[in-house]
Amino acid sequence: MSAPKKWHHKKAPLLPLRNLVVFPGMTVPLIIGREKSIKAIEKANDVDRRIVCLTQKKEHYDNPTQRELYDIGVGCELLQIQQKLPDGNLRVIVEGIERVKVTDFEDIEDLTMVDVEPLGSIGEVTPHIKALMRVLSEKFEEYFRVHKRLLPEILLGLSNIHDPDELTNVIAANISIPLIEKQEILAQTSILERLEFMIDKLSEELEILSIQQKIDSDVKSKIDKTQREFYLREQLRSIEKELGESDGEFGSEIGEFRKKIQKRKGLPNYVVEKVNEQIEKLQKMPPMAAESAVIRNYIDWIFDLPWEKKTKDRLDVNAAHKILNEDHYDLEEVKERILEYLAVRKLSPDAKSPIICLVGPPGVGKTSLGKSVARAMNRQFVRMSLGGIKDEAEIRGHRRTYVGSMPGRIIQGMKQANSSNPVFLLDEIDKVGLDFRGDPTSALLEALDPEQNTAFSDHYLEIPYDLSDVLFITTANVTHTIPSALFDRMETIIIPGYTQFDKVEISKKFLIPKQLKSNGLKKSDLSIPDATINMIIERYTREAGLRSLERHISKLMRKVAKKKVSGEVTEKLKITTKSLPDYLDIPVFKSDTQRKTDEVGTVTGLAVTEDGGEVLCIESTLMDGTGKLILTGLLGDVMKESAIAALSYVRTHRKELKIPKDYKEDDYDLHIHFPEGAIPKDGPSAGIGIVTSIVSTLTNIPVSSKVAMTGEITLRGKVLPIGGVKQKVLAAHRNGIRKVILPKDNEPHTTKVPEKIRNEMEFVFVETIKEVIKEALIRK
Ligand code: ADP
Repeated sequence: MSAPKKWHHKKAPLLPLRNLVVFPGMTVPLIIGREKSIKAIEKANDVDRRIVCLTQKKEHYDNPTQRELYDIGVGCELLQIQQKLPDGNLRVIVEGIERVKVTDFEDIEDLTMVDVEPLGSIGEVTPHIKALMRVLSEKFEEYFRVHKRLLPEILLGLSNIHDPDELTNVIAANISIPLIEKQEILAQTSILERLEFMIDKLSEELEILSIQQKIDSDVKSKIDKTQREFYLREQLRSIEKELGESDGEFGSEIGEFRKKIQKRKGLPNYVVEKVNEQIEKLQKMPPMAAESAVIRNYIDWIFDLPWEKKTKDRLDVNAAHKILNEDHYDLEEVKERILEYLAVRKLSPDAKSPIICLVGPPGVGKTSLGKSVARAMNRQFVRMSLGGIKDEAEIRGHRRTYVGSMPGRIIQGMKQANSSNPVFLLDEIDKVGLDFRGDPTSALLEALDPEQNTAFSDHYLEIPYDLSDVLFITTANVTHTIPSALFDRMETIIIPGYTQFDKVEISKKFLIPKQLKSNGLKKSDLSIPDATINMIIERYTREAGLRSLERHISKLMRKVAKKKVSGEVTEKLKITTKSLPDYLDIPVFKSDTQRKTDEVGTVTGLAVTEDGGEVLCIESTLMDGTGKLILTGLLGDVMKESAIAALSYVRTHRKELKIPKDYKEDDYDLHIHFPEGAIPKDGPSAGIGIVTSIVSTLTNIPVSSKVAMTGEITLRGKVLPIGGVKQKVLAAHRNGIRKVILPKDNEPHTTKVPEKIRNEMEFVFVETIKEVIKEALIRK
């Protein structure tokens, strides 16, 4: 190889290039068309054949100014000028000699001369640079292999290059990357940076190329597969035709679909029409079209629904009563309501089903009642939880255009029921949410409302579905969060919770036999005396329902089962109150006799929460301060307002309440706290409790711990009635409290409390707050 040429020139004519970067060492043919450029070539040819090539920043500039050209280019030698071509263009061949930087522009006559400085040679070739050169060469070889359009000679020459400058120039000239990046490589005078930059660039290019190849081959194999299947199906069709079997669809799914329609005689006409329409659409479609899968899926759904299927109702009221009693203890009101329903149904078969809503805390048997109703009526049972549903589409389904779309939960439930008249339990209707994705309540309403549900519309199905034979039963923990549009159309039946006595009975008659069976034990394996059951209820659970109780009984059975299987015991086991902790661990709750003493500022309130009736502790205390009211604990807005009203009442009635004269409000902060935090859901009912607590704190007189209270107050000191008397009284009783202060107006409601409990309780009915204070505070 000859010694590289050098660039010694300061001034030379300019040759702007539209879409090309020349690198030193490269020989390039150029077609010259612009008048000014032709002049430049002629000038160079007259002098010493040197010319400076600069690349334009944008291709479309016709007469680029200094700013429109990159300032680093290449000083070149004109190797050859051919005669003008017929179209007036000039063909030349130039060879790049060295990188140059333009320092000055000068337009003389009709061409541009530029002053340039050569950008020197590189320094020492360090081992680091050598290593980078090797990496770059390897990358390029790899690039070369993937990119099939390059000439093999380039690769062969590469191994003979030892000069890094030359190496980068050769490679840069031979890779296809955007012009701007080529220019960037040209402008990099530091060889180290140039090598690193090019290695990065090449790696990136390689990655892009490999992804591109993968996509190409994927597409190709997909097309191959589709073509193959299409071909096979066509063949199959013609074979079937040859054999004279139907119109070429025998054995195919379209034939199957047609047969299914024939079989399901009772399908409503509009359903048959819809299916036929879809079958026709499917038939016209190439079998592998993506949409055909959607249609097949749709037709399957239609066939899976029990449009015309029904179970025969058992409308025998006496038999049904027997079944309901078999499954559940008490709950007379609910059972009665269900029997009424059956009776009406018998007399007037077309009567519209009402929507029953069972309201009560967890574990009182709402779900299991639903099941039992289904059993009593000989219907299928399906259950769906509405808790947390916010999206209308969950109830009404997604339109078919949506990939992976499905019917909503109501229609899914119908498929599961496989009969169009099931008992359909909608759990947690009080937990339906509302947000930007539409309003699930209106969809629910359409499903539940007997006026509308003969034609329930699901977005996926597109055709109406008749839900009028379904017996909907809904359940809720509380009523006030049920959307009012729904609440209005439902008949609510409240299940307030069970007394201790009920729980013992239910345990003996239902829970224990059930758990014995599911744990594989026999009656002869163990005995659980009443005292033990009482202890489980009192010391291990504190709930209105039976969930925790049932769990504890089940735990007890498991332990017994283990003892039996391991051979630890062979005879009948008696679980006494003494041995109970061996099975269930240490009791969680204290017994009544261990309950607290009378304290200043501590009041036992009563409230209704999601878990049913609940006792609720109210505490207050006084400290040095500036007259602030501090409220803490988990409490809703209504409770806060109650507390403020209570304090206002106390302030305006200091004298009657015998608050000491030396108590100056501005010198103290009053702190009211609700320690155990279930938020009462029934609005204000703690008013009298808060007043009592404040008065006790300010007068330093203790509150009786044997009294619980509930009632709201006015600013004038009157006590207003509250809701949930039965639940609250049961809660007090459950917690070992036998005396309850209630608003006078609530007196009639106490008749709802089971007699057995009522007889054990002492009720104090009050009209004013003064009576409350008199009853609750223990004045000496
Ligand atoms: P909910 O739906 O109200 O939360 P569940 O129906 O799950 O309550 O009832 C919890 C358990 O208690 C079930 O095993 C159920 O059979 C039982 N149970 C509830 N109430 C009664 C009752 N009155 N008689 C017999 N078992 C009952």
